[in-house]
Amino acid sequence: MALRNMRFIGDDILRKNTRTVEKFDERLWELLDDMKETLVSQNGAGLAAPQVGILKKVAIVSFDDIHIELINPEITFTEGEVSDVEGCLSIPNKTGYVTRPSKVRVHAQNREGEWFDVEAEGFVARALCHEIDHLSGVLYADKVTRWVDNDELERMREKAKKNRSKQPQRVTFIEPKNNKE
Ligand SMILES: [Zn+2]
Repeated sequence: MALRNMRFIGDDILRKNTRTVEKFDERLWELLDDMKETLVSQNGAGLAAPQVGILKKVAIVSFDDIHIELINPEITFTEGEVSDVEGCLSIPNKTGYVTRPSKVRVHAQNREGEWFDVEAEGFVARALCHEIDHLSGVLYADKVTRWVDNDELERMREKAKKNRSKQPQRVTFIEPKNNKE
């Protein structure tokens, strides 16, 4: 495993569309493992391949005891709406409010190429939406309704951390169906 170089806002690669993954080989696994290591080193909750300069439909959401690898993901269902603060490793030292669905279902492939569905609420739902946006060149900054200044952020930080660990994350993996259309 190795750390990958992060790409930051202003870099064109973050605005490009990504290619569908067709080969589920060691090269993909190495990318996933490197992304995990890079994410942990940056103390983040999610990372998409374009953020390390790779234009493929690959993203991970990983923090605490949650680790979701998403290849060729698609949001297939959303419910509700919630506004909360969001940040991005490619946009350092910024935080802003973004409205996202409160619940999502995502259809994706795992590292072996097997399709699965995952349903999530709360922070995980937000993270899934954020990472999947990256795969079509969309940044959360495009969707911010209000930026948060540093003083406000300082006050919120402690509170947000407590809330996140208190919230049940409700991540449910759903068995693949025989006929998916
Ligand atoms: Zn991001």
